[in-house]
Amino acid sequence: MAETENRPTNFIRQIIDKDLASGAHNHVQTRFPPEPNGYLHIGHAKSICLNFGLAEDYQGQCNLRFDDTNPEKEDIDYVNSIQNDVSWLGFKWHGDVRYSSNYFPQLHQYAVELITKGLAYVDFSTQEQMRELRGTLKAPGNNSPYRDTTVAENLDHFAKMKQGEYAEGHCCLRAKIDMASPFMCMRDPVLYRVRFAHHHQTGDEWCIYPMYDFTHCISDAIEGITHSLCTLEFQDNRRLYDWVLENITIDTVPRQYEFSRLNLEYTVLSKRKLIQLVTENHVSGWDDPRMPTVAGLRRRGYSASSIREFCKRIGVTKMDNMIEMGMLEACIREDLNVSAPRAMAVLDPVKVVIENYPQGQSEMLIAPNHPNDDSLGTREVPFGREIYIEREDFREEANKKYKRLVIDKEVRLRNGYFLKALRVDKDEQGEIQTIYCQYDPETLGKDPADGRKAKGVIHWVSAEHGLAAEVRLYDRLFKVPNPAAEEDFISTINEESLVIKKAIVEPSLANIEVGKGLQFERMGYFCKDLDSSDSHLVFNRTVGLRDTWANSGQ
Ligand code: ATP
Ligand code: MG
Repeated sequence: MAETENRPTNFIRQIIDKDLASGAHNHVQTRFPPEPNGYLHIGHAKSICLNFGLAEDYQGQCNLRFDDTNPEKEDIDYVNSIQNDVSWLGFKWHGDVRYSSNYFPQLHQYAVELITKGLAYVDFSTQEQMRELRGTLKAPGNNSPYRDTTVAENLDHFAKMKQGEYAEGHCCLRAKIDMASPFMCMRDPVLYRVRFAHHHQTGDEWCIYPMYDFTHCISDAIEGITHSLCTLEFQDNRRLYDWVLENITIDTVPRQYEFSRLNLEYTVLSKRKLIQLVTENHVSGWDDPRMPTVAGLRRRGYSASSIREFCKRIGVTKMDNMIEMGMLEACIREDLNVSAPRAMAVLDPVKVVIENYPQGQSEMLIAPNHPNDDSLGTREVPFGREIYIEREDFREEANKKYKRLVIDKEVRLRNGYFLKALRVDKDEQGEIQTIYCQYDPETLGKDPADGRKAKGVIHWVSAEHGLAAEVRLYDRLFKVPNPAAEEDFISTINEESLVIKKAIVEPSLANIEVGKGLQFERMGYFCKDLDSSDSHLVFNRTVGLRDTWANSGQ
């Protein structure tokens, strides 16, 4: 991958360099550990690029491991979408996909080991009692009355938990650490709870499920992970991560390092909020092109390489950050500017009749597919007596700054001739119905001999040959930069985040591939949406052009 060149260093690379130099490790083994309870989003992409990217750069390996200890919230649809998204982003995991649930038997053994060592106990306190005894950030907690139950009794209770003899919530297994620890996560954290839930991998085999903090470190150790990278909210939990591994019989000892999560302006990246957007139908689904999910970005027209480039540019630090949406948009714009074939589409059409062009005649003009890349070739664009142009590209009168079509003035039709406006027809509301024009047949691919200059260049589509298309103009989903900070983030949804246009597009777009990036000249970057059918074309706007038209003639 070309973009791995010149990858900037970061504190994690420095740790790895040191570990390799000192011989603490002789290889790099990372993992990406999603919980299959939602689709991946751009924040996950940061973690994926980091974990898989490090493995790639150090000739190591990266596992894909589903952290699947919460059966009620998980779903096989999420398992599948996550694998698909990681592959699409361009990464290959080492060996088979792994699941924490693969390790349920070992995890259970390690829990028994902790009980046997007097380091875990079954607690029958109610949730409320447990909460009271836990204390607060300022006040230490107090020991549970079940903390000193004998090892034999605890082993018996835990066996009964496993056999389904205790109801959900009736009891749980807790580590015996320190109820006065300044770190809340060390105040006898829960290790196992009872859940009579069907699991997408293990079915009904288990009715006790291990907690994240117990599962994650052991799964890392079983897989021989050298550097276990996670986001900063797990900083305190590192104590628990190390405590579990120190107190069980296991060979490898991975180390956890934390980096800051990605926060992106004008969107939300909490799975809970994303699920709410989907279930309350504020968007059309997880892959709605306004969603910050990998599936949404892909449908919007983002390429995998543009997302990898974005993750490279934002870097990896321990600092809280809020990244501008413009940075993500710049990555796809730069990519498509180089790679996207050009085409003409009129999003807000008004009819032009070229009175001096013969009735019933048409011709094929040749248009380059890319202004700077001949290797993308050319295409034929039909031209005739009636064409559509953009309504905003015409004014009856305008000052000199307006570089488009005006009565009695000339513009060049992109890839075509000079065109001069003569007069207009309007309907009863005063809206222009037709613009009558004339063209100069001597100006195809050359300027007029008399030195006349065109005021500007506008795009167009033949009325006879053009295809009707639905164009979905997407904008930011929220009106405020940090919707997550609002009391009710739903109330800050941008009602104009989707505007649908009835457009006319050039016929070469009939069979374009879904998702392939295109530039509609002067209008932005677009791609065909999967909602398209043979009789109904749909295009999504990926991102606008750097708008060279801003303020012109205003
Ligand atoms: P949950 O609240 O469901 O745990 P999560 O966002 O932590 O949500 P996971 O599936 O547990 O989701 O995340 C998988 C990995 O991706 C974790 O290592 C997590 O730290 C990382 N990750 C999640 N969100 C971000 C983000 N915004 N920026 C960077 N990494 C992230
Ligand atoms: Mg998580």
